[in-house]
Amino acid sequence: MQRRTFLGFTLLSLASLSGCSNMPKLPQGKTAPPEPDDWQALASRFSGELLLPQAEHFDRLRKAANARYDELVPAVIMRCANAADVQLAVNFVRDFALPFAVRSGGHSYTGLSSTKGVLIDVGLMQQITLEDDIATIGSGAKLGDVYAELGARQRSIPAGSCASVGIAGLVQGGGLGIADRRYGLTCDALQSADIVTADGQLRHCSATEHPDLFWALRGGGGGQFGIVTRLQFQTFPTAPIRNYIGRYPLKHGLQVLQNWQQWLSELPNEIWSQATIWFNGQQNEPEIQIRACALGEPLLLTRHWQLLEQRLIGIWSDVDMQDHQYLDFMLSDCAGLEMPQCKLPNQHEDGVLKRVAMAGSSDIFDRYLHSSALNTLLREITKRHQNGHRGGVMLTAMGGAIKHLEHDDTAFAHRHAVLSAQYLMSGPVGSPESLLKEGAVWVNRMRHLMKTWSSGGAYLNYTDALLKNWQQAYYGDHYARLQQIKTRYDKAQLFRFAQGIKPA
Ligand SMILES: Cc1cc2nc3c(=O)[nH]c(=O)nc-3n(C[C@H](O)[C@H](O)[C@H](O)COP(=O)(O)OP(=O)(O)OC[C@H]3O[C@@H](n4cnc5c(N)ncnc54)[C@H](O)[C@@H]3O)c2cc1C
Repeated sequence: MQRRTFLGFTLLSLASLSGCSNMPKLPQGKTAPPEPDDWQALASRFSGELLLPQAEHFDRLRKAANARYDELVPAVIMRCANAADVQLAVNFVRDFALPFAVRSGGHSYTGLSSTKGVLIDVGLMQQITLEDDIATIGSGAKLGDVYAELGARQRSIPAGSCASVGIAGLVQGGGLGIADRRYGLTCDALQSADIVTADGQLRHCSATEHPDLFWALRGGGGGQFGIVTRLQFQTFPTAPIRNYIGRYPLKHGLQVLQNWQQWLSELPNEIWSQATIWFNGQQNEPEIQIRACALGEPLLLTRHWQLLEQRLIGIWSDVDMQDHQYLDFMLSDCAGLEMPQCKLPNQHEDGVLKRVAMAGSSDIFDRYLHSSALNTLLREITKRHQNGHRGGVMLTAMGGAIKHLEHDDTAFAHRHAVLSAQYLMSGPVGSPESLLKEGAVWVNRMRHLMKTWSSGGAYLNYTDALLKNWQQAYYGDHYARLQQIKTRYDKAQLFRFAQGIKPA
């Protein structure tokens, strides 16, 4: 690259970075901003790509999954190709005190992987290998690739349902998915992680090496302690999946949800289940969808599903049952697509999955919901639907193998939960911010409406910027220990954001 190009870097980044008044103040680095020679020195050692806004794919690559943050245009994208690039990037932003954000899959609900500063993107680091039953996965890999690569060898890891979500963000927040009641959370399968900490060191963490950091990475959240470059997981053998979907009218919501919960309380760990209510601002009456699936236990699932049907006899329903090969089910977002297409357009130039603009919040329940809680939930949904708004609520069964680890074994704070709730509002790309703001207020208000019955917890992977007592909600009594680990590895808070863990 020419010196002139780096002059462009300097001018552009300075212009953009000076507009970052909403960014937290960074620790003091060098007093002068990087000069063209500094950029040149970085570029000469950087194996990946340093992209300015005029670069060919910049406008595509800069976008995150959530279109709500499209207006945050980074000054520079550092597309790291390996751990050494991540070390260079960390040293550079630290030494020049540049604002930055770290991105893997880009699905942060609250735009934590979007910035007007330097975007450190690990998306190129997506190698996946399998040796015996241990998978080694680059931190830029998306769940779809993880399922495809491992699934081709009849192995998998417990993780989420959406192909474009990044493994790095998901695992650090915990990782819920259809295999969690059987095999635990994504973070429970983690055997080791490589991470570049604020001092630029690449550290290998496991139960025996930096065990404190390893503890924190399993539920302490993305972007808190450094940049993860590689993850190793225990895999499980895949099996075909039987899946039931039952649809029920919302007017019978109380009866359906009461019976569903009673049914859940006797459910074997092999079976996962979720109750969902969506409405999209149109007139058609929303309905409750109950899903239940099992990995490789079709008869067990059918026997249990029939018990649910008996409980709900007399209520109109529409039930569909299908058997799937494991990979077809996990990649159902991508039916008929090649793997490069099974991405968001910002993740791959052939990607055809749809981006949306959204806001979300969550609740954690340690006990099944009392009828007054269900009535509150249903009343609020009915009201919002009648007012012509969009929204959705998902109640997901937890328990099973999630409880096999002790509360203090990892930083994940909600091992005792029986249910998680997700409150969501989403609209198409280009939805006005006023609408999204209203949605963000609504999802957060749902927590207040449900607080009598909630543990007070919130799931860290469904970040809610309006949460006031986020330390308690995300981390519970693990927050103090996380603060000590923050002090040990990032006392000067290089990695910082509004809901970031503060040193003790
Ligand atoms: C459509 C959709 C479906 C979802 N489905 C599920 C689901 O089934 N189960 C579930 O548990 N969650 C689910 N989630 C939530 C998801 O787990 C979180 O949003 C998660 O943080 C996304 O990770 P990411 O890498 O895609 O996002 P990013 O926005 O890239 O990262 C999330 C956070 O981690 C940080 N980070 C990213 N990469 C690194 C890295 N290499 N090292 C350190 N920090 C890093 C970021 O700075 C940010 O703070 C879903 C979200 C969406 C939008």
